[in-house]
Amino acid sequence: MFNDYMLEIGSHLSTIRELHEFGAQRAEQLGRDSVYDFSIGNPSVPVPEGVREAILALACDKDSVAVHSYTSSQGSKEARSAIAKGIKSRFGTDISEDLIYMTCGASAGLAISINALCEAGDEFVLCAPYFPEYAVYVRSAGGKSVTVPFEPNFDIDLAALESVVTPRTKAVVINSPNNPSGKVYSRELIMKLSRILTRKSEEIGRPIFVIADEPYRELVYGDAEVPYMMNFYPHCLVCYSYSKTLSLPGERIGYIAVSPDAYKAHELYSAILGAGRALGYVCAPSLFQKVVAMCEGQKPDIQTYRENGSLLYNGLTEIGYECVHPDGAFYLFVKAPGGDSKEFSSRARNLGVLIVPGDDFAACGYCRVAYCVEKSVIQRALPLFKEIFESYSL
Ligand code: PLP
Repeated sequence: MFNDYMLEIGSHLSTIRELHEFGAQRAEQLGRDSVYDFSIGNPSVPVPEGVREAILALACDKDSVAVHSYTSSQGSKEARSAIAKGIKSRFGTDISEDLIYMTCGASAGLAISINALCEAGDEFVLCAPYFPEYAVYVRSAGGKSVTVPFEPNFDIDLAALESVVTPRTKAVVINSPNNPSGKVYSRELIMKLSRILTRKSEEIGRPIFVIADEPYRELVYGDAEVPYMMNFYPHCLVCYSYSKTLSLPGERIGYIAVSPDAYKAHELYSAILGAGRALGYVCAPSLFQKVVAMCEGQKPDIQTYRENGSLLYNGLTEIGYECVHPDGAFYLFVKAPGGDSKEFSSRARNLGVLIVPGDDFAACGYCRVAYCVEKSVIQRALPLFKEIFESYSL
C-alpha cells in the first residue's frame, strides 16, 4: 500500500531524536536541571552579530516581494557569485557561480548530489564513523551503501577503502571535520585518498566521485588544516552548510559546489538541477540566500566550543574514559567503558545524561557526546559521568 522503505524510516525516530525527545519529557517532569542533553548537534552559540543585522535589515526591507520571492532553482546569482568569490579567495580554486547550487542545508545538498550521481545498483562508499542520513539518501536513490571501517585514531582505513572499490562504485562520501568523531582528515590522508581514487578510476575506466560533506569546516580548534578536497581530486562535489558555522540550522541554507575539473562538470551540474527538481526543492530559502550573499566570510565564535571541548575531554579522560581529542566539529566520541555502547548510553540515560550510541554511525563500542551545550551542563554532568564509569567496576 505504501512505500515500504519510507514507512520504515518514517515510523521510527532516529536514536538522536528519540533521546532528545526523552530529554524534553524528563525536563518537563523533573525540571531542566535534571537533564544533560548531549544528544543533538544544535549550535549553542548566538548567530554572529553581522548575520543578525543582515537578517533584521532584510526582514524590514520595504520591498518584501523581492526579499521573499522564488529565486531561480539553482539559487540567486548574487548568492552564488559571493560564494564562488569566497571559495576563490580562501582556497584559490577558480570556480564560477555556474557551478554553485544553493540548497536547503547540507542534508539537501547530499540527497541531491547522491540522486544526481546514482544509477540503479550503484555503490556509495561511506567512511565510518558517518552521519547516518547518508545511508538513507543512498538507499532512497536506489543505490547501495558500502561501509569502510576506521583506524583507531578515526582516520579512514585507506587499505580497506581500496579493497571495497568495484566497477559499481560511483562515489565516496567523506566528512571532515567529522561528525561524530571530531576528526579532521590531514592533507596527507587526503592526498593518499586522492591517489587511490585516481588509480581506481583508471582501473574501472570511469571517474569515482567524492562527495565532501563540510558543515563543520569552520569549526576547527588548534592549528588543524582542513584541506579543500577539490584542490586535491578533480571529480569532487562539496556540500556546504551554514547550519553549524553561523548557528542557522533551522533556516536551511547551504550549497553544492561542483569542481570545475570534475568529469563533465556542467553536465553533472545539470543532473544536480534535475535531482533538486525531482526531489521537490523549488529553490533554497530566498531570505537566507540574501543573508549569505551579504555575510559570506563571516566567522562563528568558536571559542565557546573550544572551551567546552577541552573541559569535556579533560574531565572525561581524568575519570578514565578513553577518547581521541577532537580537532573540530563539536562532538567527542567516547569509548564505551564496558565495550557496549547501547548499555553505556542506557546507564547514562538513567541519570539524565543523554549520549548517542555509535551504532547508528557504523561505530559500535563508542558513544557520541555533543558539547554544543552550556558550559554549566558539562560541569554538572562530569560527576555523573564519574558515577557511570565507576558503575562498571562494581
Ligand atoms: N552532515 C553532517 C555530518 C551533519 O552532522 C549534519 C547535521 O548534523 C548534516 C550533514 C546536515 O546538516 P544541515 O542539513 O543542517 O546542513
